[in-house]
Amino acid sequence: MARGFGTFLTGVTKIAIKQHKKNQKNKPKIKDSTEVTDHNITLEEFNQKYKEFLDAAKKIDYKLYLQSEHWKYFRDRVLKNHKACTRCGIKGANLQLHHKSFGYGQKGRENFDSIEVVCKNCHQSKHNKVFN
Ligand SMILES: [Zn+2]
Ligand SMILES: [Zn+2]
Repeated sequence: MARGFGTFLTGVTKIAIKQHKKNQKNKPKIKDSTEVTDHNITLEEFNQKYKEFLDAAKKIDYKLYLQSEHWKYFRDRVLKNHKACTRCGIKGANLQLHHKSFGYGQKGRENFDSIEVVCKNCHQSKHNKVFN
């Protein structure tokens, strides 16, 4: 089991639980997100946690999702291996990740094909808007 996986599961589930509590309509399905940091869980337990995580990720809004440990972990891993903008080739610290197509079902399921590394300028022109 990859060590970082536990952390990135917990980050999202915690946020999801918070949001659900606010909503009150749907009670959170995940009772204890801290369990996931246990690196010795079985594959079955892991799969169950991952399924719960995906369900939770679907329900949280995009802005919160981008603050999750899961997303940060994924982004850091991608940026470690991609040091230049795929559009203009510029290198540097301003690189961001763009979701090529973004549906709610994709949160938590990203892979290296579903995102593009772009610099801030190229990213802004892709969306035709200014990011902070
Ligand atoms: Zn660029
Ligand atoms: Zn984008």
